[in-house]
Order: sequence, then C-alpha cells, then structure tokens
Amino acid sequence: MAISDSEFQALPHQGDAAASEEETGRVLSSVLARFPGRVAVISSFGAESAVLLAQVAAQDKAVPVFFLDTGRHFPETLAYRDELSRHLGLEDVRTLHPAPAEVAYRDPEGQLVAFDPDACCALRKVEPLEVVLPEFDIWVTGRKRMQAATRAALPVAERQEDGSVKLNPLAGWSEEQIARFMKDKALPPHPLVAKGYRSIGCAPCTRPVGEGEDSRAGRWAGLTKTECGLHRPVPAPPDANAEEVSAAALIAERPAR
Ligand code: SF4
Repeated sequence: MAISDSEFQALPHQGDAAASEEETGRVLSSVLARFPGRVAVISSFGAESAVLLAQVAAQDKAVPVFFLDTGRHFPETLAYRDELSRHLGLEDVRTLHPAPAEVAYRDPEGQLVAFDPDACCALRKVEPLEVVLPEFDIWVTGRKRMQAATRAALPVAERQEDGSVKLNPLAGWSEEQIARFMKDKALPPHPLVAKGYRSIGCAPCTRPVGEGEDSRAGRWAGLTKTECGLHRPVPAPPDANAEEVSAAALIAERPAR
C-alpha cells in the first residue's frame, strides 16, 4: 500500500517544521499514530544518528530500524550500532546485507569501490534495501539541510516514485542543535567523531573533515559522487539561495537592541 495523495498532503512539508526538538517530536508522533506498522527508520549509525534514534525511541522503541551492513564499514560503526541500540532500548534493529552470490559475481576482488563506486553502492546498499522497501510506506531518515549544499532544499516529506514517502524530521536542525541534544541527553558518541569524522559511511569512502568543510565533505572525497543512491541530492534552487543570502544580509544589518 502506498501513501495516498490526501495522506501526503496532510504530512508536514517545507518551512520551519522539523527545526526543533518539539517540532520533530510532533512530526514523529503524528506519523507513527496515523500510520501504525507502516513506518520504518533507516540509519547509518553514524556521527549524528543518535539524535534521530533517541527521538524515535522516545515515541516507540519497537519501530523497525534498518542498517545496511555493506561489509565495508569501520569496525567502530558495527560496535556503535550495538552499543547505541542497547543504550536506547531499540527493540527491532534489522541489519541488511548484500546478497553473497551477487558480491562474489560482481565484486570478487573487492575492488569495485575503486573503479565504480556507484556500482558498489548499488550492490551493497541500494539493492539490499530494495528488498524491504515494499514492506513500509514511510521511511524516516536523519538527513538535514545544513549537512551539505546537495541537501540544502531537503523537504520534511518527500514523495518517492513508488508512492512511498521519505520523512526527514530533522531537516531544519543546525549543527549546534545536534551537539546540544547529544550533550543534554547524554547520548554516546560514535567513537570516530573524536578523530574528526563528522559524517561516517564505509571506510574506503570516508575521511575526517577539516574546519570550515561541510560535514559530508569527507564522503567520497575527490569524486563528484555525493549520495550513495539511497537518497538523491536536493540542492537549493538558485532563487532560494538568493533569498537566503538577502535574508541573511538583512539580519546582519539589523541594529543590535
Ligand atoms: S560507500 Fe563506498 S564502499 Fe560503501 S557501498 Fe558505497 S562505494 Fe562501496
């Protein structure tokens, strides 16, 4: 079953929604109440994943949480998945793997990442998730607009071609909000954050980021690739950028009170 047009229209959309803990809580609670059994979370158990998972757990610890084990993760990520799941009391964390026969046939030497990362992501991420996509109608992600220019226009609710919806209840959160929430709730950090990793994916495709870089600048660094194929880039349209710049300039020019 897909999300109908009227159900989609009733979901939160652009604007200020999902820019605070209260708004995110409202988005999650209303969706979980209106679509019981039809909502799942997808999580990388990365640098900021605890923020979304804690808020989901606060609503319902039994919501299914899917993690894609590509076989190329840092060992710290696998340990963190287990630690964070225990800490939050998540009751239904499901780990997906690529089909072994497909890996043996399409990447027998494990070198696909070096010469065709899109094909590697398709094999290890996109296809394993496709198997379970039809089981749920709303997929909750932890993506945020501030993470990268390619996510600048991220909506709270995104209609997918198959009729499902991706829900981004943290879309409007800032880095400061994320850091404050982690601290206030005493959430365990991913161990690689202390080593400069601010967005954490597979080991061959992730490096630490420097001061002033987008948090996702360390993902597929040096390549034009910005997403693994599970999500599409959502850059701000030129007009929206212009409006944001002029609005920021107006705020900067406003005299202090
Ligand atoms: S992130 Fe890198 S290693 Fe992981 S599936 Fe994609 S290309 Fe392969």
